[in-house]
Amino acid sequence: MLQGRGAWCHGSWLFGRPPLSIQAKIYLVGAGPGDPDLLTVKALRLIQTADTVVYDRLVSHEILALIPESVSRVYVGKAPNRHTLSQTEINALLVDLARKRQRVVRLKGGDPFIFGRGGEEALALARNDVPFEVVPGITAAQACAAYAGIPLTHRGLARGVQYVTGHCKDNEALVLDPAALSDPGQTLVVYMGLANLPQIIRDLVLAGRPVDTPAAVVERGTTSRQRTFVTTIGDLQRAVEHHAIVSPAMLIIGPVVSLAHELDWFMPWAQEMELRYA
Ligand code: SAH
Repeated sequence: MLQGRGAWCHGSWLFGRPPLSIQAKIYLVGAGPGDPDLLTVKALRLIQTADTVVYDRLVSHEILALIPESVSRVYVGKAPNRHTLSQTEINALLVDLARKRQRVVRLKGGDPFIFGRGGEEALALARNDVPFEVVPGITAAQACAAYAGIPLTHRGLARGVQYVTGHCKDNEALVLDPAALSDPGQTLVVYMGLANLPQIIRDLVLAGRPVDTPAAVVERGTTSRQRTFVTTIGDLQRAVEHHAIVSPAMLIIGPVVSLAHELDWFMPWAQEMELRYA
């Protein structure tokens, strides 16, 4: 099947875009939050049969180790002292790879369609007539909550859950909707919340959330270096500073967080042993 617009005539391409290679496809694949056991079976199959994997910073070393040596790897995340590709450049790279390679996996941390700009990449592919598939991954909110012993919904404590970002496009000012933050029956999970933490806490309190509302921060969730701190909204900033929490970290806010004291099951050190001796 030849794809793309234009016409093939006497051995050369007459006009329009060059065709895609036979059955070339881009797979936008979620790698999950870090623990390689949380990859989906489909994600594992795809990374092991791809010819090229394009990945970014949040994809863990343990997952990269599952990619065969023969597969080309393209890193498009941030790196010290190196030019970082803009989203537009990444989109263009994917479109270009689709014309040169057969099976390209675009591997992204968590789920590609949750705060991962996977939607923008899918749009670029769709608008350039590149066939693609989206393979969901376990998003960090679910994974961090589960590995911290926090059910995101729980009868009598939370009727719903909201995923919000604490970071805005191009570092624009963060604007959180007070109506969305105020409902005590909604668990709030904040991605990328560290940089704007003082504002997030202030907005939560202004929206009417009591300062003693339970709050957790989960750093490097699901990995052998996971650290979880359970505190309150009023003490969250101090806890983050005191424990020198770094990215990636997830904030989980709401009464369900108090269940972590009883449900905290995950032992990061055991995780390391399991990975080492599996
Ligand atoms: N697409 C991803 C999210 C990308 S945004 C997903 O679905 O999970 C990046 C943010 O996700 C980080 O700043 C952090 O807030 C969160 N995050 C991702 N992996 C994490 C992890 N292992 N532990 C804690 N937070 C994580």
